[in-house]
Order: sequence, then C-alpha cells, then structure tokens
Amino acid sequence: MTHPYRSELKTALRSVRLAARACRSVQAGITTESLAKKDSSPVTVADYASQAIVCHSLQTSFPGDPVIGEEGAAELRVPEGSVFLEKVLSECRNVGLMATPQQVCDWIDLGGNSTYSPRFWTLDPIDGTKGYLRKEQYAISLALIIDGTIELGVLGCPNMPVSDASDEVGVLAWAIRGHGAWMQPLDHSEAPAVPVQVSSTSVPSDLLFCESVESGHSSHDWSGLIAAELGIHREPIRMDSQCKYLAVARGDADLYLRLPTRKGYQEKIWDHAGGVLVVTEAGGQVSDIHGRPADFSQGSTLAINEGMVVTNGKVHPVVIDAIRKHAPAV
Ligand code: AMP
Ligand code: MG
Repeated sequence: MTHPYRSELKTALRSVRLAARACRSVQAGITTESLAKKDSSPVTVADYASQAIVCHSLQTSFPGDPVIGEEGAAELRVPEGSVFLEKVLSECRNVGLMATPQQVCDWIDLGGNSTYSPRFWTLDPIDGTKGYLRKEQYAISLALIIDGTIELGVLGCPNMPVSDASDEVGVLAWAIRGHGAWMQPLDHSEAPAVPVQVSSTSVPSDLLFCESVESGHSSHDWSGLIAAELGIHREPIRMDSQCKYLAVARGDADLYLRLPTRKGYQEKIWDHAGGVLVVTEAGGQVSDIHGRPADFSQGSTLAINEGMVVTNGKVHPVVIDAIRKHAPAV
C-alpha cells in the first residue's frame, strides 16, 4: 500500500499493539471479587499504562506532535498516587518499556493536551472502561488529525472475535484516508491485512443495530422508537466502546446509534476519531443525529455536533428521518 503516512501508521500500529498487551495483562487480574466491590483501580492502572506506552512511541517518532487525550498524570504525581504509579511502571516494564516514575508521568502528560493545533494525535487509551471491567468489549483508539481532517485511524479491539469462524479474539483495524480500511488479528502482525467492508443491507426492517450498553451514554428509549418506526425486528447488539464502529465497518452490524441522553453533552473527539475513519474507509457513513458531518476541527470535543449516527451508507437518510421523527421534546 502506498500512502503518505507509512511511518505514522507503523508507529501507531506497533504502539496500539503494545498498549493492548498491557491492557490484557491488567484485565487478566480482575476478579469477580474486585468487580463486586466496584473496584475500578485496574482500569486506572491500564488506562495510564496504555497512554504512557502510546505517547512514548509517538514522542520518539514524532517529537513535535501534540496528543489530545483524556488522561493527565496529576493523580499519579501526588503521594497518594504512588501505589498506582508503581503498578503502571511495572506494566510498562512487562512490555519492555523501562522508565523512571518521572518519565512515565511525563509521557502520560503528553496526552493530556487539550489545545487544538493543525497536526495532532488523539488517543483514548481505554475506551469503554465499563466493558473493560466486565471483561467485555473495550478499545484503544488512536487517530492523526491534520487541519481538522482525520488522516489515519487505528482501533485496537482486544476482545473482538477475529472472525465468525474462529474462537480467537483480538482485532487490530486501521484506515488511512483515501486508502481503505484494513484489519488483522491483534496477535499476528505477520498475518496478511484484510480489507474491511460494510454490509450491503438496504431494507430498513432488516437492519441490525448496535448501541452502548450504558443507557446514560445513548438513549435506549429513543432507539427503541426508531427501531419500531423502521420495522427493525432484531434486538440491538449492546456493546461498549468504539468496537461498535468496527462492528459496522466489517458488517457485523449495519447501524450504530448514539443518541444524546441530555442536552449540552459534547462528544469527545477521542471517543470517535479512530472509529470514524475506519468505518468511512470501509464504505460507511457517519453524521450526527441531524445529519451533519462530524467536525473534528473544534478542539477536544465535537462541539457543533449532537450524538452520532453510523451506517453502512445505504440507509443513512431513512435513519436520520426516523431519528428526527421521534426526537424527544426538550
Ligand atoms: P460507550 O462505551 O459507547 O458507552 O461510550 C463510552 C464513552 O462514553 C466514554 O469514553 C465517555 O467519554 C463517554 N460518555 C460519558 N458520558 C457520556 C454521555 N452523557 N453521553 C455520551 N457519551 C458519554
Ligand atoms: Mg472513551
């Protein structure tokens, strides 16, 4: 594949693979007891380790590039954070990244940027923290944005099935704008990359849609009305994280609805950028609930958008109409 971002892609894929290893290692230690206690410390450790690993790679390869992400290291720099910091260091060491506590905090803080610039990366080191804790779906999402346009997007999905025909889990998907979307088993960097392609479903009642597990992140009541309007007969797939973008991109689902639960919530760019490019390069379509394109030139949020609608491209207008028809009065 010839494209202008060869070295960016190489760095992004390698770092997301490494980050996924750290996430898996921490996730393996989550017990039913820690879940019952609602102990969220594993996700804290893995979140920081994942961010440190990716930001270290980006800084080494592209020293001038800012990274806009969710986490900063402030919590780790105070005395109470030292237990976490020690665990983060140990996870970094496990994947071959030797560092001092100071270095790890500095790498994490690289991703705590929020100022917009003409070229930057956006990172969600663990998207879908609830899914991560439940040992279900989560994603590591990384994207390169230049002049407000997503040029490169990577999704590491450590618990997604490689294919229908396999028990293996772990998918790495990526896209370069204008050069298609691709995927590979996360654990086999030597395996051939296969093109990712959306479904061809065009009859609304045949659609299979996906949405957040969390009804606080996307309205299940509203999606229920839309499904009834379109005559959709299959139950939605409820899944955490940007794995929903991969599900639509490779045709596991035809539609992903993210319907605002309250006025004023601004979607974060790191919750979407990686997924948006993968699905659009796979032939899909993305807009907000009003049919407006997702605008990544507004800083760290999609400030002029509301919610998100992701389709296989064949049914976008009919879905937007149904959303509008059933919009709750506010
Ligand atoms: P999901 O896994 O699809 O439920 O989405 C997880 C993401 O939802 C998190 O990374 C949060 O940034 C984001 N989030 C938090 N609160 C809200 C909200 N009120 N509406 C939409 N998304 C939210
Ligand atoms: Mg997120």
